[in-house]
Amino acid sequence: MFLYLNLDRRPFGGYALSMNWAAFPGSFDPPTYGHLDIIRRASSLFEKVFVVVAVNSEKKYLFNTEERISMVQELVKPWNNVEALFCDTLVVEFVKKRNIPVLIRGVRSVIDFAYEYELSMMNRGLDPQVETVFMAADPAYFVLRSSSIKELASFGGDLSAMVPPLVAEKLKIKYTKV
Ligand code: ADP
Repeated sequence: MFLYLNLDRRPFGGYALSMNWAAFPGSFDPPTYGHLDIIRRASSLFEKVFVVVAVNSEKKYLFNTEERISMVQELVKPWNNVEALFCDTLVVEFVKKRNIPVLIRGVRSVIDFAYEYELSMMNRGLDPQVETVFMAADPAYFVLRSSSIKELASFGGDLSAMVPPLVAEKLKIKYTKV
C-alpha cells in the first residue's frame, strides 16, 4: 500500500519546520484561565506558540495594549515555547509575515463555533495557506468569557476560579472607585 502525500499542499510550499508553529490571537482583555488552558494544551501540540495580543483601534478595551501584553507575558512564563506578541494589522498578514501557518482558536459553544467558523472562512479567503485549528474549551472553563468576567469584577465578585491572581488584582484596581 502506498501512502500518497501531496507535499505541494503543505503550507508555504513545504516549509516543514514552521509547520509546528502556531499563533493564538485574541483580545485577552483580560486573559482568563480559559485562555491559559488553550495555551497550555497548544504548547504541548506545537513546537512554538505565539500568543498574539490584538490591537484594534476600533475596539474599546478595558486594559491598554501594554497592560494586556504584560499580563500575557507574565502568565506564559511557565512554558518556554510560548511567546507573547502584539499585532496591530490583520492577523492573517501578521502570521504570514512570520511564517506561522496555524491559527489556534478556542471554542466554548456552538455559538462560538458559528462565529469562529465564519472567521476562519474569511481568513482562508484572505490566505488559503493559513490553517485554523479549533480547540474545544475544557468543561472546567467553557463558561469563562472576558466580557462577563469584567462585569463580575465591576460588582466586586469573586474571580478566583476564573482568572489568575495577577489578573484579579489588576481588575480590582480598575474597578476600585476613587
Ligand atoms: P473573549 O472571546 O473571551 O473576549 P478573546 O477575544 O481574547 O476572548 O479570545 C481569544 C480566543 O480565545 C478565541 O478563540 C476565544 O474563543 C478563545 N477563548 C476565550 N475564552 C475561552 C475559554 N474560556 N476557553 C477556551 N477558549 C477561550
